[in-house]
Amino acid sequence: MTDNPTQLLIGGELRDAQDGRTFPTYDPAHGGELAQVAQGGAADVDAAVSSAREALNGAWMKTSPAKRARALNRLAQLLDERTDELAELESRNVGKAKWQCAAEIKVAVATLELFAGTAQHLYGRSHVVNPAVVSYTLKEPVGVVGAIIPWNYPLMMAAWKVAPALAAANTIVLKPASATPLTALRLGELALEAGIPAGVLNVVPGPGAEVGEAIARHPGIDKVAFTGETGTGRRIAQVAAETLKRVSLELGGKSPNIVFADADLDAAVIGSLWAIYYAAGQSCEARSRILVQDEVYDTFASAFAERARSLKVGDPLEAETKVGSLISRDHAAKVRGFVELGLADGGELLAGDGLSLGDGLDADAFVAPTVIGGVTNDARICQEEVFGPVVTLTRFADEAEAVGFANDVRYGLAATVWTGDGGRGHRVAQRIRSGAVGINTPFIAFPGVPFGGFKESGYGREQSIEALDLYTEIKAVLQNTSPKPVNPLGV
Ligand code: NDP
Repeated sequence: MTDNPTQLLIGGELRDAQDGRTFPTYDPAHGGELAQVAQGGAADVDAAVSSAREALNGAWMKTSPAKRARALNRLAQLLDERTDELAELESRNVGKAKWQCAAEIKVAVATLELFAGTAQHLYGRSHVVNPAVVSYTLKEPVGVVGAIIPWNYPLMMAAWKVAPALAAANTIVLKPASATPLTALRLGELALEAGIPAGVLNVVPGPGAEVGEAIARHPGIDKVAFTGETGTGRRIAQVAAETLKRVSLELGGKSPNIVFADADLDAAVIGSLWAIYYAAGQSCEARSRILVQDEVYDTFASAFAERARSLKVGDPLEAETKVGSLISRDHAAKVRGFVELGLADGGELLAGDGLSLGDGLDADAFVAPTVIGGVTNDARICQEEVFGPVVTLTRFADEAEAVGFANDVRYGLAATVWTGDGGRGHRVAQRIRSGAVGINTPFIAFPGVPFGGFKESGYGREQSIEALDLYTEIKAVLQNTSPKPVNPLGV
C-alpha cells in the first residue's frame, strides 16, 4: 500500500492522469492542502472502462461466487484492521469528527460482509409454463457500473455501491467527490490486496463535469449508481438516457422530525440532536425540520436549544468533539446564508451565535449548531436542503397537520416520529411519503435495511438485499420439453 493514495487506479495500476493534470485536496478544519491528486479526464475514463470490461469478461467472470464472497470478506477485514488509519485520513479530508468517520468505516465493513453473504445466493426461479415449456431465470451482472459518490461519507458511500455491485459480479469505475478522493483510492488498493482481480475496481477522481459526465455518457458503461444532489442526479439521468443506461439515484432530503406532545421529551431532545448535528448536518437523511406539537413547543424548544449550545464544536481529531468543520469555507458560507434567510423569513435564533474554537482551526469552515424557531413550513429554509448544522422548529396543532407539513416538500428520504402512542407511531409512519421512518429513534440506516428515497430524493434502494436488483439483469431461459418439434406455422 502506498503512503499517499494520490494516483488513479486503472487496471490494477496506479497511474498519473493521461494529460498529467493534478488537483489539490484539503484539510478544511485545520486549513491547508492535504495532497495533490491525479485529475482524471475523459481519456482516463475510457481506459478505466476498457479495463473494467476486460475484467468483467475475463478474470471476474471466471471467479466463482464463493471466491467473490471470500474476496469481499477479506476486503471487509482489511478495512476493519485499518479503521484508525482510514478514519484519520477521512476526518482530515472531510473535517468530520474522527470517531464518526471510524463508526462509518465499521458500517462499510458490515456492508461488505452483508453483500459477501449474498454472492452465493443470487437465485433465479423456475416455472413450468405449460406441458411443453419449462423456464428458469438467471441473475446476471448488469456489466460495467459507473459509481459516482459525494463527499459527506466518502468511504461508506463507496462501500454501499462497491459491495452489491461486486457481489453480483459486476466491475466498477468509481468516481469519488473531488473534495474527498483519498479514502476511495485507498479502498481500490485494498481491494487488490484482498484478491479482487485487477480491473474489477477502478478509481478515477476528477471533476464531475468531466469525469462524472464521461461516466454517465460512456457507451461502455451499463449502469450508473449515483449519490449526490438532486440537481446533479437529474442531469445524470438525462445524460444516461442517451444510451438507456440503468440508473439508480440517492439524492437530497429535507426530512421531518415530528415531536408529539405525548412523547418522552428528554429522549426526543437527545435523539433529535443526533438526527441533525451528526456529520455537522451534512447528511442526506438529516432531520432538518423539527415539527413540534403546540402544547410542548416551548418546553421542547428551550431544552433542545440549550443542548445544541452545549455540543462541543472543534478539532475533528479530538475524541470529545461532537461537531467538526464543514467540507469547505465556501460551503460554510452557503450554510450561513441559509441562516440569514431563515431569520429574514421571521425565524428566531435560539442557538448558533457565538462560536469559540481552539487554536489551529480555520473558523471560516465551521458553523455552530444552529436552531431557528418559529418558522412556517413554507419558508425557504424549510423547503431547501441546507446541508449544515442548522435546524428549524415549526409548530403544529394535530396529527393531520403534522403529516401535512412532513409531506409538503419535494423530497422524501427519511423521517422520525416521537410519540408515546404506539398506534400513532405506525399510523404516521404509513402516511409519510419517505423511504424510511424511525419511531422513537433517530437511526434509520443499518446494513440490511433498505435505504433510498421517494419523490425527488431519488430511486433505488441500497444497503439491503433489494440493492442486488440494481446490479443484476434477469434473463429468462426457456426449454422445449415436448417430444414433438415446435411447429407453430404448421408447415
Ligand atoms: P454533488 O451532486 O455535487 O456531487 C456528487 C458527485 O457527483 C461528486 O462526485 C461530483 O463530482 C459528481 N458530479 C458533479 N457534477 C456532475 C455531473 N454533471 N455529472 C456527473 N457527476 C457529477 O453532491 P455533493 O458531493 O455536494 O454531496 C451532497 C449531496 O449528496 C446532498 O444533496 C446530499 O443530500 C446528497 N446525499 C444523498 C445521499 C442519499 O443516499 N440520498 C447520501 C449522501 C449524500 P465533484 O465532486 O467533482 O463535483
